[in-house]
Amino acid sequence: MDTAARLKTLSDAAIDAAAGQLAELSRDIWSHPELNYEEKHAHFVLTAFLEDHGLRPQRHYVVDTAFRAEFGGEDGGPNVAVLCEYDALPELGHACGHNLIAEVGVGAALGIKAALEEALKEGRNLGKLTVFGTPAEEGGGGKIKLLDAGAFRDVDCSLMAHPADANLVDFGYVAITEVAVVYRGKASHAAASPWEGVNALDAAVTAYSSVSCLRQQMKPDWRVHGVITNGGVKPNIIPEKAELLYYIRAPTLQDRDILATKVYACFNAAATATGCSVEIKCIHQYDNMIHNEAMTSVYRDNMARYGVEEPPADHLAWKQVASSDVGNVSQAVPSIAPVFAIGTRDMPHSRGFAEAAGGPAAQAYTLVQAKLLAATAIDLYCTPRHVDTAKEQFEKYTSEGL
Ligand SMILES: [Zn+2]
Ligand SMILES: [Zn+2]
Repeated sequence: MDTAARLKTLSDAAIDAAAGQLAELSRDIWSHPELNYEEKHAHFVLTAFLEDHGLRPQRHYVVDTAFRAEFGGEDGGPNVAVLCEYDALPELGHACGHNLIAEVGVGAALGIKAALEEALKEGRNLGKLTVFGTPAEEGGGGKIKLLDAGAFRDVDCSLMAHPADANLVDFGYVAITEVAVVYRGKASHAAASPWEGVNALDAAVTAYSSVSCLRQQMKPDWRVHGVITNGGVKPNIIPEKAELLYYIRAPTLQDRDILATKVYACFNAAATATGCSVEIKCIHQYDNMIHNEAMTSVYRDNMARYGVEEPPADHLAWKQVASSDVGNVSQAVPSIAPVFAIGTRDMPHSRGFAEAAGGPAAQAYTLVQAKLLAATAIDLYCTPRHVDTAKEQFEKYTSEGL
């Protein structure tokens, strides 16, 4: 048996040995859903778990509910990062299954640590493992804060896996800009002196209609969706303030920015037409995911080892229209972020998916995924050529501006 195969067997055994604890940890996070940047319980239990397993975590790393844990030598091979998410959704709890992303992350970390330890015993320093706890994926951009602080500067490759209704390695996370728009006009009595007023709701409605007209000229994979979050207070007052929230998405950063320029023009034109002032605030931007081909092919080779199969490419109707800050990580270091089935046909952000993410049936899938990420990392450590190719491809993608 070659070194990588031997280390994978050890890694699988380490993950299996912790199966009960991993399930408990995941269920604990699921039972205590916490929103963006409030993930104190998840932060506490995940860092305690890593500590119990000999991975010294840096708690409150950069962000209060983020963490970083490392294992392995400084002068060896590549530094492979595994990412955990653990934030929940308002009202729906863990309907995006981030408790399972955390479980995959720390489970893979146990397997990778077992492999690196064994190699060290045999006198080989294969490389370094870094586990990141990345909060606030659901609209808070926790990974962007870590990136801005330079957390990924010494990372060579990044791995993460997200639960879904099917296995899909090249899941298409698209680029998104989230904008808040505020129109300000002038209040007046809507019956006695409407001509004295400047109607901010009219500006919001005009903007909404203009974006709807724009939709006919949009490419099929562009998406714009918005809501009016404030449309005034009382019919007999000309609204002096109106607010909208919009998501602008496209498969690449370039298309996203072209589309955003067109949508911003609609917002500005509505202000001119109604005499209102407008304030357009970009809340955050998630970049599109660049799935590194070399790493993807290592991951795919390992899928066979665990009997994981992909459905036909057109299976997931929503596969090109979700967004995540893992995309920003993929624009900074070579990355993969496959999605994996957990035995439900419900899609993320539904009550059915929330139930599945906390149920016992998801556990077998999640453990396999932890083993798969660990096996992928082991191949990256054992065959440095994979990492060199991944880096060459990354340079090419980013210089071409994908
Ligand atoms: Zn989500
Ligand atoms: Zn998610």
